Amino acid sequence: MNKLTLDDVDLSGKRVLVRVDFNVPLDEGKVTDDTRIRESLPTIKKIIAAGGKCILMSHLGRPKGKRAIEFSLNPAAQRLSELLKQPVIMAPDCIGDEVERVVKKMTPGQVMMLENVRFYAEEEKNDPDFAAKLARLGDIYVNDAFGSAHRAHASTEGVTQCIKPAVAGYLMQKELRYLGQALKNPARPFVAVLGGSKISGKIDVIENLFGKVDTILIGGGMAYTFFKAQGLEIGESIVEMDKVDLAHDLLKRADENKTKLLLPSDSRVAAELKSDVATEIRKNDALRETDTAGDIGPETEKLYADVIRKAKTVVWNGPMGVFEIDEFASGTKAVALALAEATKAGAVTVVGGGDSAAAVKKFGLENKVSHVSTGGGASLEFLEGKVLPGVAALTDK
Ligand code: ADP
Ligand code: MG
Repeated sequence: MNKLTLDDVDLSGKRVLVRVDFNVPLDEGKVTDDTRIRESLPTIKKIIAAGGKCILMSHLGRPKGKRAIEFSLNPAAQRLSELLKQPVIMAPDCIGDEVERVVKKMTPGQVMMLENVRFYAEEEKNDPDFAAKLARLGDIYVNDAFGSAHRAHASTEGVTQCIKPAVAGYLMQKELRYLGQALKNPARPFVAVLGGSKISGKIDVIENLFGKVDTILIGGGMAYTFFKAQGLEIGESIVEMDKVDLAHDLLKRADENKTKLLLPSDSRVAAELKSDVATEIRKNDALRETDTAGDIGPETEKLYADVIRKAKTVVWNGPMGVFEIDEFASGTKAVALALAEATKAGAVTVVGGGDSAAAVKKFGLENKVSHVSTGGGASLEFLEGKVLPGVAALTDK
C-alpha cells in the first residue's frame, strides 16, 4: 500500500484522533454485535502501548444531524472498556470547548470516545469548518473505518485536510490488503461468487470483474433476471424487468470474454418464500408459473462447490438464496463451506457484503475464510474498482 500506516508514525505523547466504525447494532442500550469494536482493538491497543492519547470518533445510525440519546456512542464506549479492561472516557460531544478541555487533561495511554459525529449535519456534508473543529482534537489522524471509507464525510475526508499525517489503521490496512491483493495480483484460478436479491446493485461489480476473474458463479435472486433474458419461465421469482436487456448483454459479453459466467442449473422453489413451507427442486428450464425460487438447487451447490474448491482466489458477494429462512439456506451454506475448504487448501478467500458476512457468521465459518470484510458498501465499491475517498485522502508514503 502506498499510504502511511500506524507503523510509520511516532505516537508517543501525541493526541491520536482515530476514525473507527462503531456503527454497531444496539438493543435497549446494549451492543448486540461487537464485531466492529473487536476488529478495531489492534489499532487502539497499539496507540495505548505506544503512549499515545487515543481519541475515537464514529457515527452510529442515522440521527439526521440532531442530538438523539438512542444514537449515543456511550454503549459502544462501555463495550470497548470491557474489551480493553481499562476505562474509556465518554466525551460530552464530538467538537467544542468542553471536549477540547477534556482532551487537554488526557494522559498517555488513555482512551476517549467522542459522541456521534452525525449529531451534526455538517458531518455528511463534509463541511470544512466542522472538519477543522474535529481536527483541533488531534496531532495525528488515523482512519480505521473501512466501512465508512466510501463516503467523503468530515470525519473520513475533510479532517485529513487539517491534520497531517493521516494514516491507515490496522483494520483499514487488513481490508485493503485482502481486497486489494485479490483484485490486483490474484493467484489463479480466480473465482467470484455473486448473489443477492438484485442484479442492479451488482452490475458494476460484474463489469469490473469481467476479464479479471476466470469464473463468475451467479446465484441468488439475480439469477432469475438472467433466466428471463434467456426466455425461460421463472414463475413468481424475483426479477428486474428493466435489467433483462442488460442481463442479456452480460451473457453475450461473457461468451466473448475469457471470463466464464455460470448460472444455476437447478433451483429450490416453493409457493411462497417463508418458513415451514414445502420446497421442490426444479431444473432451470422446468420452473412453473406458480413457483418462487428461493435458493440454488443441490446440483448447482455441488457444481459451484467444485469450482470454488479448485480456486486459489475467491471473492464472494451476495447470498445464493434467502438464507435467513432455513428452508432456503442450503445453497449459501454449501458455498460458505466450499470457501472454508478452499481456504484450508491454501486459497485466499474474501467475503464482502453485509448479508454475506451475516450468512458466514450464521454458519459459524467466519474464522474459516481468509477475510470477512467489515464494510458492506465499501467492499462493494472496492470490487467495482472505485477509489474510496477515505483511503485516497490518507498521506502518501
Ligand atoms: P450483500 O449484503 O452480501 O451484498 P445483498 O444485499 O445483495 O447481499 O443480498 C442479500 C439478500 O438477497 C438477502 O437478504 C437474501 O434474502 C436475498 N436473496 C437471495 N436470494 C434470493 C432470492 N432467490 N429471492 C429473493 N431474495 C433473495
Ligand atoms: Mg445487503
